[in-house]
Amino acid sequence: MASLHPRTQLSKESVFSHMSRLAAQHGAINLGQGFPSNPPPNFLLEAARRAIGTVDQYTPPIGLPRLREAIAEDLAVVPENVVVTAGGTEALHALAESLYGPGDEVVMFEPYFDVYIPQTRIAGAEPVLVPMRLTDRWEVDLPALERAIGVRTQALLLTSPYNPTGSVFSHAEAEQIVALARKHDLWIISDEVYDELYFNQPPIKLRELAPERVFTVGSAGKRLEATGWRIGWIVTPPGLAPEVAGMRQWSSFCSAAPLQAAVAEALPAARKEGFYQHLRESYGQRKDLLEQGLKSLGLKTFSPAGTYFLTAILPDLEAETLLRDGQVAVIPGSAFYIHNPAPRGLFRFAFCKPASEIERAIELLQTYLERWRLS
Ligand code: GLN
Repeated sequence: MASLHPRTQLSKESVFSHMSRLAAQHGAINLGQGFPSNPPPNFLLEAARRAIGTVDQYTPPIGLPRLREAIAEDLAVVPENVVVTAGGTEALHALAESLYGPGDEVVMFEPYFDVYIPQTRIAGAEPVLVPMRLTDRWEVDLPALERAIGVRTQALLLTSPYNPTGSVFSHAEAEQIVALARKHDLWIISDEVYDELYFNQPPIKLRELAPERVFTVGSAGKRLEATGWRIGWIVTPPGLAPEVAGMRQWSSFCSAAPLQAAVAEALPAARKEGFYQHLRESYGQRKDLLEQGLKSLGLKTFSPAGTYFLTAILPDLEAETLLRDGQVAVIPGSAFYIHNPAPRGLFRFAFCKPASEIERAIELLQTYLERWRLS
């Protein structure tokens, strides 16, 4: 009997979909999968309504020209280096297909964002994981990063602001990473989908330090609170966009045309309306609410510098038991580790949810932890 290729071992449901499904089933508060519960801004919705019925056929695989121009304008790059993709996930997949293959290694940090591992393996390459240190905060270990680089290494796959840790590279770290990439002649894939979601300094854009070797990944879904729209982008080093776009044409061919048109209008509108500033303020308040709530329960938290995620140490309990018996869905730290063991009791909380849900989650957690401590 014919069977599926062993590669389909990688087809397992993601932890994010799994926890969202269970949360819906059990009526739990979902602080697991990171997606906003409010609708996207009106300027985006109205632009999409105008575009449907007008911009409905295939666009070039590299993207709708006016969207490439809008992205280039927003990021201060040239449109020739911009490729539009079906979300950040397809952007990363197109880069995996374009940059490495069997026998190659890709160095990344652990904890890692889930898609990095299967995408690297589907391309035939092997992920090499460098553990981040967890002291009072998440720290990158640059000597360990250099030790992980070998003759087979093709690329560094990096993220700042980082999901799940919420950490952001300092200027010195970014410079040292770029120096390493130059010394070993490596590509850098810089996943910057949370580029506008920071709480202190704006994060460093790695491509500005090494435009010749950095591929930047961005996401309209994250910036404009429309994660289901699947509009993302890649900024490539000069001259490489046509090949990368040529690779993505074999998967989705192009992204949803009217939504590309809507994002083209929304990117300048977001700047004009101060939308990202509003986003940072609103997420910053919810971050504080969640962090103070967890601290009031005596839990250790690691304050994020960016993203809408916060990591914390809970007693060593099971995420699925907490969901079923405590009615709160969070992501277990183990979901972000494959090589090294996850720190004991590590969990990731998403705070892109209404304040009322965050408050309710803290109450539920308090009740659950009291029962758990007594049992
Ligand atoms: N980026 C989101 C998270 O980390 C969701 C990822 C997904 O479900 N594909 O929760």
